[in-house]
Order: sequence, then structure tokens, then C-alpha cells
Amino acid sequence: MTQQHQPIRDRHRHGILVRGVVQGVGFRPFVYRLALEEGLAGFIGNDTDGVTIEVEGPSPALSSFLARLRAEAPPLSRIDSVDLREIPPIGEAGFHIAASEVLGRVSTGIPADAATCPDCLRELLSPADRRYRYPFLNCTNCGPRYTITRRIPYDRPQTSMACFKMCAACQSEYDDPANRRFHAQPNACWDCGPQLTLLSADGSLIPAADPVAATINLLADGQILAIKGIGGFHLAVDATSEPAVQRLRQRKRRYGKPLAVMVRDLTAARLLCRLTEAEEALLTTPARPIVLAHRRPDAAIASSVAPGIPWLGIFLPYAPLHHLLFADGRLQALVMTSANLSEEPIAIHNAEARARLAEIADAFLMHDREILQRCDDSVMALVDGAPQLIRRARGFVPLGVPLPLDAPPLLAVGGHLKNVFALARGRFVYQSQHLGDLENLTGLDFFRESLDHLMRTFEIEPQAVVHDLHPGYLSTTWAKQWAAERGLPLIAVQHHHAHIAACMAEHSLDAPTIGISLDGTGYGADGRIWGGEVLITQLGSFERFAHLAYVSMPGGDAAVKEPWRMALGALHAAGFDVESEQIVKLLGAQPSEVRVLLRMIERSINSPMTSSLGRLFDAVAAVVLNRRVVDYEAQAAIELEGIAVEEPDRFEQGNYVPELHEADEGSGSVAVIRTGKLWKAVLDDLWRGVPARRIAARFHAGVAEGFINAAANARIETDINTVALSGGCMANRRLARLLRAGLEEEGFTVLQHRNVSPGDGGLSYGQAAVAAATLRL
Ligand SMILES: [Zn+2]
Ligand SMILES: [Zn+2]
Repeated sequence: MTQQHQPIRDRHRHGILVRGVVQGVGFRPFVYRLALEEGLAGFIGNDTDGVTIEVEGPSPALSSFLARLRAEAPPLSRIDSVDLREIPPIGEAGFHIAASEVLGRVSTGIPADAATCPDCLRELLSPADRRYRYPFLNCTNCGPRYTITRRIPYDRPQTSMACFKMCAACQSEYDDPANRRFHAQPNACWDCGPQLTLLSADGSLIPAADPVAATINLLADGQILAIKGIGGFHLAVDATSEPAVQRLRQRKRRYGKPLAVMVRDLTAARLLCRLTEAEEALLTTPARPIVLAHRRPDAAIASSVAPGIPWLGIFLPYAPLHHLLFADGRLQALVMTSANLSEEPIAIHNAEARARLAEIADAFLMHDREILQRCDDSVMALVDGAPQLIRRARGFVPLGVPLPLDAPPLLAVGGHLKNVFALARGRFVYQSQHLGDLENLTGLDFFRESLDHLMRTFEIEPQAVVHDLHPGYLSTTWAKQWAAERGLPLIAVQHHHAHIAACMAEHSLDAPTIGISLDGTGYGADGRIWGGEVLITQLGSFERFAHLAYVSMPGGDAAVKEPWRMALGALHAAGFDVESEQIVKLLGAQPSEVRVLLRMIERSINSPMTSSLGRLFDAVAAVVLNRRVVDYEAQAAIELEGIAVEEPDRFEQGNYVPELHEADEGSGSVAVIRTGKLWKAVLDDLWRGVPARRIAARFHAGVAEGFINAAANARIETDINTVALSGGCMANRRLARLLRAGLEEEGFTVLQHRNVSPGDGGLSYGQAAVAAATLRL
């Protein structure tokens, strides 16, 4: 740095604090270049919560610097605030990057993993570049972050790149503030970085001068490859080959659930799906999520990729290796699914993958950069015109989501299925990646491992533990034990209260709200299973205003896997004679089966009561689509939405609208939403030969109107004019659209999820918001 001092006349100096995601994302070199271009002196350094900048020079240059600071910030950064103060100029010359220690403790932030940037992609495919076809190139604007970091601070020795010593060429890029790779922690090249190896199923090395080319040959030949990526292994097959996809399904024991497809680029994506501009924007964000989009009827894709539904989960290459797999044009589309048996955690270690996937994969494309954090691909969909997170994982974790109130350090353990836990402190909640179902010890190990990691990463020592009200959840049992060992207080939060609080907190709302939580499940305050709820909600408390009428679930969990049982329970509750010949036939059941279930219901044997809308969808799908059993969660409901996709939204709903009645005593609710007339309308239409797609569309519209009526009644009683929509059913785009449109026509302000999942993946964020409000009181 030069220290030749300048005359102070006509000069000003600003002290600037920038808060947000500004570390490990190329922010300091960006500011360095900006200051040089504007001819300003001063310095930039990381500090505890962001970066500190001091700049000095003439006013016009300072104004331009400030404008460009926001406008041209690096792609992976996120500026939350810029605080500016005038300080006396000191006549400094030159601009420099201060060493971190000068400004105190380095911030604890670790950025999220990001897709290969356009500059790196250009190098990857340029024969003249020294990184031509190097599968691990990256820079400060792209590459792995969270998944390769062991602990803070985010610095190369703390990452799984520590064992690779940079060559002189890489080191000089790393040290040069004007270089795109300045302090790019995973910086590497052919000479000094990780390398690929190709192994056969028995673990022997497949000799290949170019493992990528050999892999392409195997894939084109219909083989199943386990490919190590950023957050774990994928199982990959040629998505255009029906036999290859079938074989993968057989071996993975995953029969109906849709598989995600990676395509070469946007042009290839457009050939498979009808994409809106907003969907294309989602596909190309640095997080590169899987996006659920409308499949073209003529899409060149094996039909067993996503049977029975009109959508396809597609995504674009996000690691250099993925780009290389598509580069020579032989492969058009690859099924890329998490390498696990269904709902087990994704495999990340080489030996672990070989052991767990030996029966599935024909070959393994491995590398020697360790993955330290499992992280599945994120899933998003455009719901009602706005992006919504269905599964929040790679590319989003561990970015914090703001809270509208201060939280003490706390741990919220989330739910049971699709578990995500959260750590909160101050105005931020840090959610873990999607962990899958907490039904077994593997799931619980993944939970513990990720919790340790996030606690270290953010240096958060919880002072309270928040869990779901359900006494039987593994997460609840674990939370109680963990809190007891540490002498910490416990806070139990009702499932749907957490859903609505999550939506409110996401919108910085801390005032009474009408919450509509539509979901598959959720342990209620009365010990029954809730899921079709209108709740008058504050962050710290709620009252039940209305709920779907209770019906029996004969067989409990068996009724979730066999929707015809749900249909029987619902029709019985609605007053139909389920032993009549017509209905037995409709259920696709034997009279003896029906008798057994009926007896279970009448004697209350293993037949819990539920007000769940998810279960109502299952029941209607069972009779309308003859869907007796499901292969995966919510399959029946998803198919019911899918079949209606080309139908108009609105009808004369008439009898399809569930009716609002005064609630029975003891339910703790004001009103109940009854479905007797709705069921009659469904059966009448069915027997009159009305097509299933039309019945499905009417059912969606009727249900939406029923809940809108309930909200309107709640407004009369409470004068509240804001509605928050949440719960797993909000992933149903038709339902979300109908509810929002209908509520807005009624003059309501409507809040929908954006950065937090409406499903159980969002629970822990809501639990944290409820706990913060509870502890404040
Ligand atoms: Zn890059
Ligand atoms: Zn190198």
C-alpha cells in the first residue's frame, strides 16, 4: 500500500458498515476494485457481523462508490443494511484490504454452496485455459462452501481443501486482490486439486484416461452411476431410457415417487417443460434448485420418471463435473436422484457410498475432496406466481432467515417427517438442511451430526429447546432428553401454530392474524390430529376458530398408506351407508374388508380422529381416481391436483362448498366445516359420469371457498383483516391460487410463504418465532 498523503481540502471520508452475506463471497476484492476505479483511498476489512469500509476522496466519487456498492455487489452477496457516518479525512492515499484480526473477531458466517459461475464455465470449456475440463474449478463467485467446511472461521485450513496444497499459480491468484480467485478457499487446478476416479461396482479401479468420458459411455449404455457431487452422491441414469429408469427404480425400491431430471441447459429444459420467465429465473439462480414445472406432453423422457403427474422436477448443472457430463452432447437428460434408500440420509463418504450403494450402482464416479455436510438438492416451485421453497437444502443452508423480534439463543427441533431443525439468536433463525424422516437411528444420527456442525458454525449455545406438542415424535423425545442433560427449559408448540407463526414471521408480522393451516397431520391441543384449521393466531398464542369436521382414520397410519380406508372413514362420518353395494364398489373393496374397518371405527379401535385436509384429499382421490394405496406420501392428493391441471379454476361450486356450522362442545373451536354435502356432490357427479378431472377441479374450488367463508366469519368476530396461509397443502398450486384470489376478492390481505417451506420443513422456523414471543412475554 502507498502512504503518500493527499491534501485534505475538498475531500471527505466515510465510515461504512455493511451487514448481510458479505464474507466468503468476494465482497472485499469487489470493494477493492470499486475503490480503485473511483480513485478513492481507504480500506476494507471483515468484522464480527459483516464488513467495515473507510473511503476517502472527493464527493462525486464517494456518491458513485456508494451507488455502485449496492448495484454491482457480487452475485452471492446479500446486503441487508449499509450504515454510513462522516469521519474526518486523514489524507490517506491508496486502498487496501485489512487483515481480519485488525478488526477483531472474524464473523462466524459460512456462505451457501453456489453453482459454477459464467466465468468459470467459460474457462472449463476453453481448450486454451489451464483449467480446461478441470472438474473442480471455482472462484469467489461460485463453488462449494457449507458442504466442505468443518468449522469457523471459513478459511481453507478449516475446509476439506486443507489437504490440497495450492500450486504457485493458484496461490498467486489467491493472494491477488484484483483476481477473481482472491481468497477463494476451495481454489484448485489440475496440478494441485482434487481428482476423479472411476470404480466398478466391486470397488476395482476402471482404468480410464478420462473418467468423465468413460462415465458418459456407461450412462449412454443405460448403466446406473453413483456420482459424487457437492452435497452427496447422486444416482444417475439416462432419463430418456425407459429400461434404465425402470432398473433404477427396482434397485432403489422407489416405485412411484417422481425422480428429478438434470438437463444440459435452459434450451434443453424448454424442450421438456413449458417454462415461464419466472421459472427460468429460478432454474438459473446460484442455488440451482430442482424446479417443479409443467411437462410438455411430447417431452422426450422415459414415462417412468414421473408417472401419473403432469409435472417434472428439473434442474441445471451446478458443479463443473455436471457440465462436463453434458458437454459433448451425447447425453440429453439425466435422472439425478439422491443416493440413498428411500428417506435415509444421502450418502457422502466414498466408503459409505460403496457399502450402501453396492446393490444399486453399476459403477462409481468418485473424487478425493471430502464432503463434510450432507446436503440434498433444494426443491422449489412457482406457486401462485411466486417462488416457494418445497425443500430447503443446498444453496440455501446455512443462510439465516430474519425474525421480527429478538430471540435468545435457542434450538427448535422441528417435526417428524421431512425434519429440519433451527438455531435462533437475535434477529435470525438458521435452519438446517432437509434431514429427511426422523423415524430411525440413521435419521437421528444425521440430526445430531448436523446440529453439532451448526452449533459450532454459528457459536450458538441454546438456552431453551423448542419441540412439537406431539408426545410420540422422536424429535420430542430427543429434545426432552437433550434439554434435561443440560438443565434447559422446554417449550412445546402446537404444529399448526408453528406453521402460521412461520408465515407471519417471514412477513415480519407480529399482530393478531387469521391463520389457515392446511396440512396432512399435526397433533392437536385436544389430542386429535389436526390439519384443516382456521386459527386466530399471535406469535405467542392462538385460538382455534374453525376446523374441518373430524373423521376416523381406520387403522391409523395404514389409512395414510391406503387412501380407500380414509374414504371409508370420511363417507361414514358424512352419514353414508358404507356397506351399501354402490359404495363398497366405489371403494374397490371386499364387503368383508369394509365390515372390519367399520367395526374398528365404531369401537374406536386404532381409529384416531382427524380434521386433516390432506386426508380429505386422499379420501376424495381414492374414490375419484381409484387410488387404493399410495407409493409415497401425498401421492393421491398430488394426482388429484395433477388431473385437474387443464381445467379452469372457477365453477358454480354450489354443493361442493363445505358448510360452516356451530362447533360441537368440547372441540375448543367456534365453528366446524362439514363436508356431507360436498361428498354427496362428488358421488352424484361420479355416478353421472362427470369426468374425474372436472370433479377434481370442482373439489379444489369448493374446498377453497369453504375456508374463505370460515375466514370471513372469523373477521366478523375479530375485525382482523390479514390471513396467513400455511401447511403442507399449500404446495398444491391450484389450492393456493384459489385461496389467495378468493380471499383478496373478499378484501383480505393475504400472506404466503416465500423463504420458508409451508410444509413441515418450515416448522422449526415457526417454533423459533413462537418461542421468541413466548419468552418475551
Ligand atoms: Zn466461478
Ligand atoms: Zn493449482
